[in-house]
Amino acid sequence: MVVQKMAEIPLVLTIAGFDPSSGAGATADLKTISALGGYGVACLTALTVQSSLGVFRVHTIDAGVVRETLARLVEDMPPAAIKIGMLGTGPRTGEVVEAVAEFLEGWRSVPSVLDPVLRSSSGVDLLDSDGFSMVKERILPLVGWVTPNLAEAALLSGRRVEAAGDIPAAAAELQRQFAALNVVVTGGHLGKPDDYFLAPGSAGVWVEGERVETRSTHGTGCAFSTALAVSLAKGAGAEEAVRAAKAYVTGALKNAPAIGKGRGPLAHFWRLKDSSE
Ligand code: PLP
Repeated sequence: MVVQKMAEIPLVLTIAGFDPSSGAGATADLKTISALGGYGVACLTALTVQSSLGVFRVHTIDAGVVRETLARLVEDMPPAAIKIGMLGTGPRTGEVVEAVAEFLEGWRSVPSVLDPVLRSSSGVDLLDSDGFSMVKERILPLVGWVTPNLAEAALLSGRRVEAAGDIPAAAAELQRQFAALNVVVTGGHLGKPDDYFLAPGSAGVWVEGERVETRSTHGTGCAFSTALAVSLAKGAGAEEAVRAAKAYVTGALKNAPAIGKGRGPLAHFWRLKDSSE
């Protein structure tokens, strides 16, 4: 008989799209989870045709496959945290959002992080307007965390979010609508790339960032939200988890090699770099 110790490794589930270049989406998330000492499992919501040069096509997965994947996976491998990313575009999206929402209803006791992926940096929609309304209505009330960038914070809050000074009011508006929500507005597009964290019932805090000059910025939002989910799975406190995710992404940007002809991937495994370098 084979006797094995029960795994102590935190299991993290990503519900996300597939980016074949692995800069963003589920395969990038699996790298982030592994790099931070978790065991990653994934449910794909959409396939994209994509390279570092941009997104060329989106093919949303059948909602029945999403539903069954989630059910089969978690009866075997219950997650300690869940990250939700891209949900898709087109007529199938509503059903996918509904399948994910029904799944989340049964998993409210574990930390969940929504990265509200609306559009790729190359300007292609990764969620359409019907999908967006459904995410607000069905997914946001069920998750503990949301990590919008400036544009996503503007759409979700219905406010203008162009400068650092606009962010606290947008985060407060989101929390007015969803009282239990931890909001992290990621400031990667600001001159000084600080993030703003607003926990329920607390004053907001700024988490300072450092500008890294690189063109390897593809999938920074995915890496941040997934790193946050891993820290929460490990039992970190809320602010500690935000700071750990910020530090992870900054290191992954600083160490990124130039891969591809466009906006390349981060160095997800930067902490495993040969120590002799
Ligand atoms: N493709 C997939 C599957 C994604 O999940 C995301 C973002 O989360 C993107 C593309 C867009 O990444 P970026 O905005 O860094 O281009």
